Amino acid sequence: MKKKIYNFSAGPAMLPDEVLKEIKKNFLNWNNIGASIIEISHRSKEFYNIIVNSKKYLNELLNISDKYTILFCQGGARAQFSAIPMNLLDQFHCADYIDSGYWSYNAMIEAKKYCVPNHINIKKNTDGQITLLKMEDWPININSDYIHYCPNETIEGIAIHEEPNFKNKIVVGDFSSTLLSRKINIEKYDLIYASAQKNLGPSGITIVIIKKKLLKNSYPFVPSILDYKKIFDSDSMFNTPVTFSWYVVSLVLKWAKNQGGIDFFEKNNYRKSHLLYQTIDNSTIYMNTVHPNNRSHMNITFHLRNPNLNDIFLQKSHEAGLKFLKGHKVVGGLRASIYNSMTMTGVKKLIQFMKNFEFKFKRI
Ligand SMILES: *Cc1c(COP(=O)(O)O)cnc(C)c1O
Repeated sequence: MKKKIYNFSAGPAMLPDEVLKEIKKNFLNWNNIGASIIEISHRSKEFYNIIVNSKKYLNELLNISDKYTILFCQGGARAQFSAIPMNLLDQFHCADYIDSGYWSYNAMIEAKKYCVPNHINIKKNTDGQITLLKMEDWPININSDYIHYCPNETIEGIAIHEEPNFKNKIVVGDFSSTLLSRKINIEKYDLIYASAQKNLGPSGITIVIIKKKLLKNSYPFVPSILDYKKIFDSDSMFNTPVTFSWYVVSLVLKWAKNQGGIDFFEKNNYRKSHLLYQTIDNSTIYMNTVHPNNRSHMNITFHLRNPNLNDIFLQKSHEAGLKFLKGHKVVGGLRASIYNSMTMTGVKKLIQFMKNFEFKFKRI
């Protein structure tokens, strides 16, 4: 029996206990076929059920209409940074890249290999607080093939909660750290992608939800494994898929449905993040620098006002079983990633620890 810890890792992140137990129970003899799930063909009828179910659960959870198709890709979200311009650049050879932080900026840098993207920085730093330009004020270009943005910046803990409403513009969203965390209207998007290791399962697999009308014969230089139409035509099996990751994703999706679907997670994630932000805002030793309108419900970043306390915080929290709270190196400080699998109990343990720590160290 493993020792119980609370895992606040940003990704790969914790998975639900129920899912881990089911994997363990079935690992050596999956569904009584006498072999492990990782030992069978992706083209077998046994694996076929996993494919069908994962699509079915996603369609139900996100209310995806048949105007869209779901592709299961490899290479993480980073491969999509290349696949998107390769597949979607069209008459203008140019796209709008909204820059709200590390990941959206890096998507733009990759797109530079294929076009000269319009770099649209929407971050403002007012008196030490980060605010984002409202979506309705984004300076979108008429002469661009699509707009790319990231609704949840995993590293900075910045979120865009509004939904896009751009006329005649293809909208692409990097949902890697937020898919299934809250309600979204799929119809507002043309392409949504998410690598699994934040909120959906283990690393290796990336979900792409794309409008079917965008599937077209691509330029001859596009690598086949990044070609959406080829991936679609081969049922996401142009090359051997990451079968184990796909299997675990299907279990996480089933678990998500049984928990009560997105309605449940949206409420729970709001409550969890709200309690943490309250603790930070009401304290004299912690602070968060993101405007309340743009705070992430998944990745809660915070700093100690006295940076010398950072390492002590990390050491003491680690000893208390609250693990992986170190902020990403590009922003420093601390970060609690509280994806769907993180329970309210875990968040309350962290809050209790933060309050005790504050009581002890507020004078230092
Ligand atoms: C983690 C992350 C990525 C990178 O994902 P990989 O699977 O490592 O390529 C991209 N975008 C966002 C928003 C992320 O959180």
